[in-house]
Amino acid sequence: MAYTFKQNFLPASKYSIKAPYTMVPKFITVHNTANDASAANEISYMVNNNNQVSYHVAVDDREVIQSIPFNRSAWHCGDGGGSTDPNAHKKGNRISIGVEICYSKSGGVRYGVAEENAVQYIAKLLKQYGWGIERVKKHQDWNGKYCPHRILSEDRWNRFLKRIEEAMKPNETENPIEKDDDIMKFTNETLKAAVRDYIKQAVDKKLIDKSHLEKFDAGTLTSGDLKGLEIIIAQRIK
Ligand SMILES: [Zn+2]
Repeated sequence: MAYTFKQNFLPASKYSIKAPYTMVPKFITVHNTANDASAANEISYMVNNNNQVSYHVAVDDREVIQSIPFNRSAWHCGDGGGSTDPNAHKKGNRISIGVEICYSKSGGVRYGVAEENAVQYIAKLLKQYGWGIERVKKHQDWNGKYCPHRILSEDRWNRFLKRIEEAMKPNETENPIEKDDDIMKFTNETLKAAVRDYIKQAVDKKLIDKSHLEKFDAGTLTSGDLKGLEIIIAQRIK
């Protein structure tokens, strides 16, 4: 399932605190929030406080939300005012786009889906900029902080980069579902489990009939079916 992309921009009146420099981005820096808040809540917290803490994008299991334009710097790398010199070491805050992956504190399925959404979104950004995977950095690369903590503690950084590379390939993960009447195929088990969980929860809440879950388990649910279910669930959910 794809994420929804939204923009909820920091007011320009807060640029002096949160986004003080103009920026020509050269890297993408990956973070884990170390929190269990949604992307919308992370962003509204960031926008509403007056701390020198900021980042461009937050990703959760449903949404990718951008809050700072990519031509403004943000405070997310712990390397201070640093440098804009691509050869300098301390440059994360000055020339990198900060992407926070939500729900990393407790992990679980919603974190897994958030991480997969980040993979897909970062792949899309790399393609837009014409960049290779070497442009993707972890927060740790800039100032040594143990971040993105969950990816690091599960020893999955290299695998995370590989997934982004795979997502950049045409016809593979970018648009895995070609037609609405195609049977759904999943390129990864986390995503499959997340979709099943999504359907099961809707069945448990009696928003949809259990036959949909049976169809999913039988491997006969099509992507068109799922789109229909998403609409029904969104309409019926309280
Ligand atoms: Zn970080």
